[in-house]
This record gives sequence, C-alpha cells and structure tokens, in this order.
Amino acid sequence: MPESHRASPEALLQEVWGYPSFRGMQQPIIEHVVGGGDALVLMPTGGGKSLCFQIPALLRPGLGVVVSPLIALMQDQVAALHELGLRAAFLNSSLDAAAARQVQAQARAGELDLLYMAPERLLSESGQRLLDNCRLALFAIDEAHCVSQWGHDFRPEYGQLEILRERWPDVPRVALTATADIPTRREIAQRLLREDARAFVSSFDRPNIRYRVVEKRDGRAQLLQFIREEHEGDCGVVYALSRSSVEQVAEYLAGHGMRALPYHAGLGSETRARHLRRFLDEDGVVMVATIAFGMGIDKPDVRFVAHLDMPRSIEGYFQETGRAGRDGLAAQAWMAYGLADVVQQRRLIELGEADEAHKRLSSAKLDAMLALAEAADCRRVRLLAYFGESSQPCGNCDNCLHPPELVDATEAAQKLLSTIYRCRQASGISFAATHVIDVLRGKSGDKVQRFGHDRLSTFGIGADWSEQDWRVLLRQLVAQHLVEVDSMHYNVLRLTEASREVLRGARQVMLRRQAPGVARRRRATSASGTRAAVALDAADTQLFEALRAWRSEVARDHGVPAYVVFPDATLQAIAMARPADLEQLRSISGVGDKKRDTYGPALVRLIAEHA
Ligand code: ADP
Ligand code: ZN
Repeated sequence: MPESHRASPEALLQEVWGYPSFRGMQQPIIEHVVGGGDALVLMPTGGGKSLCFQIPALLRPGLGVVVSPLIALMQDQVAALHELGLRAAFLNSSLDAAAARQVQAQARAGELDLLYMAPERLLSESGQRLLDNCRLALFAIDEAHCVSQWGHDFRPEYGQLEILRERWPDVPRVALTATADIPTRREIAQRLLREDARAFVSSFDRPNIRYRVVEKRDGRAQLLQFIREEHEGDCGVVYALSRSSVEQVAEYLAGHGMRALPYHAGLGSETRARHLRRFLDEDGVVMVATIAFGMGIDKPDVRFVAHLDMPRSIEGYFQETGRAGRDGLAAQAWMAYGLADVVQQRRLIELGEADEAHKRLSSAKLDAMLALAEAADCRRVRLLAYFGESSQPCGNCDNCLHPPELVDATEAAQKLLSTIYRCRQASGISFAATHVIDVLRGKSGDKVQRFGHDRLSTFGIGADWSEQDWRVLLRQLVAQHLVEVDSMHYNVLRLTEASREVLRGARQVMLRRQAPGVARRRRATSASGTRAAVALDAADTQLFEALRAWRSEVARDHGVPAYVVFPDATLQAIAMARPADLEQLRSISGVGDKKRDTYGPALVRLIAEHA
C-alpha cells in the first residue's frame, strides 16, 4: 500500500473501492477503530461490515488479522482484496505446508495488510508465535455470535478466542455480526472486547428486499412459476426442511431447465464443495438447500430467497432471507406457507428432546413466526418490531402492495368448529381436516356415510365455500390456537379452550383473504423491481448482458467468482453511463484505481463496440 493511500478513510474508499460515500455507520465505526478503540458492530447482512475492519487495517500500521469460521470462503475474500490491489492472504487447513510458510514469512516481513485466519489456526501454538512476531494493526472477529454459548451457531474454537484479550491486550478488536439479540451481544462483548468498547447497532431494515408470503397449494409448482415469471436466469436460494425434499426440488427445477443444485449435510463434502463453487462462480445458479447452507455466503447478487417450508423462528427467517440482495439491488424473499407448515413445526417442537422451558420458548418463537406469516398488515413493520425497531408501512411487501381483504369470518369459524365438535360427539373419536371439510361441504363419500355424518346438523352448512377456502380458514385457526392438530394421531382436529370463546360468540375471527387478481398485478409490479437489468432500456440491457458475458470470461481466467470482478450493480451503472474513457470510468461506483487500470481499457472498448 503506497503511503499516499494512508491519507484518510474517504480517500481510501474512493481510490481502492471506487465508492463515493460511506454507508450507514461505517464512517464512525472506522474512525473509532482507527483511533484504537474496540467495537461491536451489528449490521444486517449486506450492510457493509467488511469495510469496517478493512479500512482501519490499512490505516493503522501493521497487520490486520481477520478471524473467520468459514474456510471455504476465505479464498474468495482474499481474491476480492487482490482484485482491489491490496496485500492479503489467508492461513487455514487448505494450504499445504510450503504455501503456509510463505504466507507466514510475508506476514513477519510486514508485507501484508490483511491476514485471514481460521480460529484453530490462530489458537495453535505456531499461530500465536507468528502473531507475536508481527506488528498487529487490529483483530477483526467475523461472525462473532459464534462465541456465544446461547447463540444458535456456537463454535468451540470461537469460545477460546478470549485468548486474544489476554495475549494482545493492546491490539484493538472489532467483533462483527448480523445476529441481533441482546444476550448474544452481551456475551460477545464480555468474551472478546475491552470494557470501554463501543457498540454500533445499525437498523436491521433491508429496504431492497420485498417480503412475500403466498398460500401453499402445490409448493414446487408455485416456486417454478415464481422463478419463471420473475427471476428467470437469476441467482437464488431455495430453502426446504428435509434432505429428501431438497433433492426432489432440485431435480424438479433442473428438469424444467434451471441450473438448480442440491445442498445438504448428507451430501459428501466434495459434492457440497463443488456445488458451492458453481453457485459462487457461475451466473444464475439456484441452490436448493437445507439451512445447513448459508452462513457467510456473501455472494452479493442473490436475487431471491425462497422458502418452501416455514422457518421455525423470525430470527431464522430474517437470517435466511437476508442472504438476498446484499448488493442493495431489488431482491425478493418469497415463502409458500400452508397448514402443513404449522402442524409440522409444532410437531418438531413436541418431539424434540429439549426440556419444557426450552419447548415453551420454541413455541413462542414459532407463534411469532406464524403471526408474521398470517399478518394482514406490513410485514416489514412486524419484522423490525420483533427486533425492537419501530417503523412505518414499507410499501415494498406483499401486504403493502396488495392489501389483503380482512373479512369477518366468525360465522364460518363457528361452522367449522361445531362440525369438529359434532363429529366427535356422534362417533366418540376425532377426525382429520379432509373428513371435517367433506361434512361441512355436504360431500357424502364412503367414510361420511359409514359414520352417519351425513345426518349431522352441520352436514352441508358450508357448501358455499371451496375446500381450499376451508383449509385456509382452518390454517388460520390453527395458527391462532383455535384448533389443535394432533400430529401424533393421524392429524385429527381437536377443539381448544379458546375455540369455546368463538363458539359462544365471545371472540371474533378475522380472515385474511388474498385480494383477487393479485397474481397478475404482481407480475406487473415486480417487473419494475426485481431483475437487475430492468431499470435499463433495451439498448442498455444489451450492453449489460455483454458486460456480464465479458465478466464471466475474466472470472474464469482469473479463477475468481464473477462478482469479485465487478458486482451487477457496477455493471449496471456502466451500462447506463457508458463511460467513454478511463477518467469517466472513475466516476462509476465500484471502480477503484486498480480495477480501472486492469479492466478499464477492455471495458471502454466493449462500450465503444456497443455505441
Ligand atoms: P456484510 O459483510 O455486512 O454482509 P459486505 O461487507 O459484504 O456486507 O458488503 C456488502 C456489499 O456492499 C459489498 O458488495 C460491498 O462492496 C458493498 N459496499 C460496502 N460498503 C459500501 C459503500 N460505502 N458504498 C457502496 N457499496 C458498499
Ligand atoms: Zn410493507
């Protein structure tokens, strides 16, 4: 790093990264750390955490050591820094002895600005000795929530990082995470930071993500339609609960011509690594995965995250959907949700081995998630409220864009509840949804006749509603604990204490109905927002596609993921501004000095060809 770069954070941001201004809290964080302070940085995924330690590492004399749990991704992070012309390297188990020795020598000689280390490497005797022999600018601990015993990603090696404080008390430390809750924050600070550390907590809003929940009918087919209509050729992640459904869905999408790959813990590590590589390196791969996939995936151009099964908590939902749109361009979080999700998640808690207190906590978390899925008002307001932030309706979620109708369904609910009650009263056993709905709708099949339920007073009182209508109502009742599904016993339906209030007329039931015609209108609105290329007119789109093709080639030649060369946002800006020379190229956000020198001439030529 030439001395001239050591001027100021702003100058570095412009010259190295090519960004005109800092985002959110980046600037105060950087100033604090450059001044030698410890910091806890809470920022949502895509908020720009990396700069908060990379710039201070450049500005402070010595080596910045970055602790990261994800070996598979260190290589990309370092490659991205090389593309920017920075002196960076990593040390983890993927290096052979000779390569590791070389990195160590560079570090000792002061030839590196940033060194990424796996925690076990840092904790080893040789790792500690190495750092003793280097001048240290700072420690950055990425995914810092992994030190928390109470968090959901606890890693034992992280637990031992307290050693940083004891062995190098004078080196500033920055702990970074996108996980929000208060106990975890406290534990991170306690274990890793000095007492006078400052916490920088950003808003968790991700305004570019559009949240959507659709009623699940045939989840796979709905997913296919969603991708086809709104995300053809885009990179995305699809989450499913089980390994088998991951494989089936990946196969199904692939069978329909998509570049879909499965990812779950049951696949061999080699297959997993290969699929991850393709997801990172190629354009437009859809990864179908269990939640085993995701932490630390900082691919910026994931345009959608789809859930085929509902996550079990809002934290999980927020973390998973947060992997969309890190580049700040429009992205979607789409979830198909149905009765089976409610039943399945409740069963998982029920069957789990946790103690009663833990089960109660899990149930409360699930109920909050259900309330979000069933909400008729702004989903973002609810999401943020869950993390303690208040906000106004966002205008960029399904409920804001197409407010659902809320109808008084108390009478219908009473019909449904009394049918459940009558069936049980007549036969002494409880029945599942299909049977109860048949009775309601007056369908007298074999089973209904066998039990004589066609003679019940409620037989046929719900003939004016379709089976699907009844299922939607039933789902909402189950979500609100007004009906219980006994998943240990053929999914039979049972009344609860609260159902009696409804039957007595002491409690109103409001039913959320998706406005008719929503599907078509949705397509129209999404067309203006979701695709990276949509803001462009036809000619610009053509250039954008040409730039993407050029980028793929360069990425292959350099052996780096495409987004490391340039993110979509930058290519899009180039396609619109059509810079005619290197000087004009400099004004594009995301083109720093090194990239301008390396790629500028080729870009200018390509743009001229498309004039
Ligand atoms: P996080 O680690 O918080 O998820 P990253 O550090 O990976 O986020 O940043 C997300 C994306 O935003 C990256 O592509 C990064 O280059 C970009 N970015 C970060 N800071 C800025 C900024 N000030 N201006 C423009 N883009 C930025
Ligand atoms: Zn909204």
